[in-house]
Amino acid sequence: MNIDSASDRTFEVIVIGSGMSGGWAAKEFTEKGLKTLVLERGRDVKHNKDYPTTNMNPWEFEHRGRLPLEVEQANPIASRCYAFREDAAHFFVKDDEHPYVQEKPFDWIRGYQVGGKSLLWARQTQRWSDFDFEGPARDGFAVDWPIRYKDIAPWYSYVEKFAGISGNKDGIPELPDGEFLKPMELTCVEKYFKENVAKEYKNRHVIIGRCAHVTDPQPIHIEQGRTKCQHRNLCQRGCPFGGYFSSNSSTIPWAEKTGHMTLRPYSVVHSIIYDEQKGKAVGVRVIDSHSKEMIEYYARVIFVNAAALNTNLVLLNSTSHRFPKGLGNDNGLLGKYFAFHNYRGRISAEYDGFKEFTTDGTRPNGGYIPRFRNVRKQETDFLRGYAAGFSSFRSKDHDTEGLGTDLKDKLLHGKLSNWKVGSHVMGETIPKETNYVALDETKKDEWGIPLLKTSVDYDDNDEKILKDFFEQFTEMYTKAGFTNIKTHDSKQAPGLDIHEMGGVRMGKDPKTSLLNEWNQLHACKNVFVTDGACMTSTSTQNPSLTYMALTARAADYAMKEMTKKNL
Ligand SMILES: Cc1cc2nc3c(=O)[nH]c(=O)nc-3n(C[C@H](O)[C@H](O)[C@H](O)COP(=O)(O)OP(=O)(O)OC[C@H]3O[C@@H](n4cnc5c(N)ncnc54)[C@H](O)[C@@H]3O)c2cc1C
Ligand code: SF4
Repeated sequence: MNIDSASDRTFEVIVIGSGMSGGWAAKEFTEKGLKTLVLERGRDVKHNKDYPTTNMNPWEFEHRGRLPLEVEQANPIASRCYAFREDAAHFFVKDDEHPYVQEKPFDWIRGYQVGGKSLLWARQTQRWSDFDFEGPARDGFAVDWPIRYKDIAPWYSYVEKFAGISGNKDGIPELPDGEFLKPMELTCVEKYFKENVAKEYKNRHVIIGRCAHVTDPQPIHIEQGRTKCQHRNLCQRGCPFGGYFSSNSSTIPWAEKTGHMTLRPYSVVHSIIYDEQKGKAVGVRVIDSHSKEMIEYYARVIFVNAAALNTNLVLLNSTSHRFPKGLGNDNGLLGKYFAFHNYRGRISAEYDGFKEFTTDGTRPNGGYIPRFRNVRKQETDFLRGYAAGFSSFRSKDHDTEGLGTDLKDKLLHGKLSNWKVGSHVMGETIPKETNYVALDETKKDEWGIPLLKTSVDYDDNDEKILKDFFEQFTEMYTKAGFTNIKTHDSKQAPGLDIHEMGGVRMGKDPKTSLLNEWNQLHACKNVFVTDGACMTSTSTQNPSLTYMALTARAADYAMKEMTKKNL
């Protein structure tokens, strides 16, 4: 690209970040013919071509899938993520590559490459309902959402059809059904638990997870070059079938095919340029990560999709005479009311039944128990609630006593164990002003950009949620006849849930929020934020489907406003 002339550096839209949400922005704008620049700080990762481990057998890995101790020790933060293993470590940011300042412990898990963390995610996708959108208005913690379910429902449908979401129409009001492809199956023990819970409790449900896997390819998926998920369960390596949704397998190549996308990897966005005379943003400053050269790019509309924490960083670093505390930050709340999901609790047990059955093959999914606490009314001493996973499996127990042929024989012919069952909590945390991210006053990264400082912690509400999860699930497991029930508090720091949200929240009132109902900065209308940073509250669902739907909705609005010459 000739970067000498300003006109070559001028686009209609700039998208910052090419991950889960940025991919959607790229797709939406280019599909409608808008000249779009996608800026990505990391390297390019092309579908299939750049999945080096995707077809490797377990024995082909030098360390049989694990990472050497020295790699784990050098990366204590990344190592706490279950997917940071030999087959996918190349998609993770290493701890020492991109430091940040933890005022309080925060495990920041990142993927800096085209596709971002969409390559690595666990693909669980649930819609929000009005019970979630109305949460803050009902109990007064955090501000009211400026939208309701009806505003986003058509956009959920829109992204689900394209991405391919497998699920069952369960008819649960607090977890609205979507445009589902064929559901995966619960195991016999999971079905048994489902029936038992339904019998024992009025409003508790056990369902098969809803996940972004093409179980039944439709023409729109074939057109993307994707095909049926083979249940390999090796998704974090990148899938040669395009069986799961990632920006790399779906939105980015789709945008590329239109001929309207310019994708610029190795482009670290430093800040957004605000023009005082025009009263709007006119472009972005980018630092080429290799040459360290700063280059300016210009556009009418800017979408910030750098993932929640980096989006906060970019806006905080976008200072001007008009916005000395960061772009759009008139009320001083940018970076504040940061929240996440409480993933600290696990419970496990055994079931001494269904001995005639076992599992066969793998299933890249699990069971799901939607939130049942405080849904319709406040019924506990804590606010909001939690969802949980539920899965079961059988493994082989091996007798490791003995020597020689006898031992070999025992190792080869293990005995099937009892069914093992387990759940993990997914608790809503309440956004608070005291949970914030900010720019460090002195420390900078290698491109001269201030380091991000995180000051985020659990509170008493999170402890109560954890206690209730343990009590309720112990009761539910006991009623189902499960034995050997064990609870475990991992005490993990916030962040490891990888559902970081807030700091640039949506709201009705510019005095208490940063973004309006269309994800536009109240004070700088041609800048949109549609990743996790925009979230007013967190509810309990896995959040990415909501980021995708909000992105497609905001892009549609932006294009209409551009046509009307309002932007
Ligand atoms: C192991 C794992 C499991 C997960 N499981 C689930 C799940 O089951 N369900 C779910 O909903 N979510 C899940 N997530 C979370 C999900 O991946 C994220 O919510 C989602 O990827 C966020 O999308 P995003 O566009 O905000 O950010 P990302 O996908 O991270 O993309 C952001 C992009 O912006 C780029 N970028 C950052 N800063 C800059 C800058 N200054 N300049 C230019 N580019 C920049 C990054 O390099 C990156 O490519 C999981 C994540 C992981 C890692
Ligand atoms: S489980 Fe499906 S999506 Fe995952 S790697 Fe296998 S085929 Fe691909």
